[in-house]
Amino acid sequence: MSRRRQIYEGKAKILYEGPEPGTLIQYFKDDATAFNALKKGTINGKGVINNRISEHVFTLLSHINVPTHFIRRLNMREQLVRQVEIIPIEVVVRNVAAGSISKRLGIEEGTQLPRTIIEYYYKDDALGDPLISEEHIACFGWASPEEMHDIADMAIRINDFMCGMFAGIGIRLVDFKLEFGRFWENDFARVILADEISPDGCRLWDLTTGEKLDKDRFRQDLGGEVEAYQEVARRLGLLPEGSEESDVLDLDTHRKKRGK
Ligand code: UDP
Repeated sequence: MSRRRQIYEGKAKILYEGPEPGTLIQYFKDDATAFNALKKGTINGKGVINNRISEHVFTLLSHINVPTHFIRRLNMREQLVRQVEIIPIEVVVRNVAAGSISKRLGIEEGTQLPRTIIEYYYKDDALGDPLISEEHIACFGWASPEEMHDIADMAIRINDFMCGMFAGIGIRLVDFKLEFGRFWENDFARVILADEISPDGCRLWDLTTGEKLDKDRFRQDLGGEVEAYQEVARRLGLLPEGSEESDVLDLDTHRKKRGK
């Protein structure tokens, strides 16, 4: 089978040229990294689950008029997306203190924040994605004030929606990371949600037990990563009741054997 042209390979995904101009194929890998790629590993079947979860969340977000790059899922590990110019900012939304904010400011993990916080990080692996302010973004022209207004507005709407969605399935949305891109229509650029939303870039805690159902299981060597990702997918109704994680993996193996 002829292989498509690879456009970019990131830590968890590969982008290939899409079938039509202005489209890309986003392939979800099982590779996992943490601490700016100092820790590397594989979570078997993660790519399959994240492809499915991200499709689900992006589809629901489009129903509340959040524009996204998602067009449609192609197979177990791939989705067709709009080509965008990625804005080099990681947008982190926090509802509960955890991770870097707890470390940096000495706030105990699990503290409910009195209000939601939006933070910006400059996307640069060599610099370790430093925390930046809107002043830096404006000064260096990484995004215009109008784009930042749209980004903050979408981040809040996405957070409101996802808090409710996860609360409905017994999950506390602690924090998450978003990426946005410029989508060009004629000479006009519109900011749309890009990348993915999955347990790789969210902190998801079970509402009653506090159990971590996200990449912290990998970061903190807690084990059970696949089961945790699978549990999120199951609660979202993306796996038939009673199905096992191995069913998903079997399907994926089957697809690979067919060379698709
Ligand atoms: N996050 C991410 N990619 C990054 C950095 C953070 O997806 O490069 C997500 C992370 O999974 C968490 C949220 O953003 O849900 C906030 O991460 P934090 O700043 O606490 O950093 P960390 O503790 O992961 O280093």
